[in-house]
Amino acid sequence: MTHVITSLCLRDSACVDVCPVECIVGGKPETQWPWFYIDPATCIDCGACVPECPFEAIFPEDEVPTAYAMKPAQKFVVHGDDGAQTYTAEGGEVYDFTGDTAWNAAFYAEGTGPGYAAKTM
Ligand code: SF4
Repeated sequence: MTHVITSLCLRDSACVDVCPVECIVGGKPETQWPWFYIDPATCIDCGACVPECPFEAIFPEDEVPTAYAMKPAQKFVVHGDDGAQTYTAEGGEVYDFTGDTAWNAAFYAEGTGPGYAAKTM
């Protein structure tokens, strides 16, 4: 299993600093890869990153919310065909974030995702 960073990520980097296997990378270019991403092949599921995130954006893969109720003024960022879009919730909207698991994997996909190369972009 792995941990997953979701659409609630607003690019605080505290998670990167605590990861013992250095498997969290900030997305670049940011317009295409707006979050930080966890490499599912390297994550050891220690959970150290979870309490560090001020946006509570990180979950164990099997606990990624299927019905997350947004708080008033809470922001979230989605990938889109025209680039990343940031939205502010009114409060009470309910979202399924399970699709975000695929974005973490896609970031590290050989040949198509920037992966660890984003560190030096
Ligand atoms: Fe890194 Fe542990 Fe978080 Fe996995 S769960 S990304 S190993 S800090």
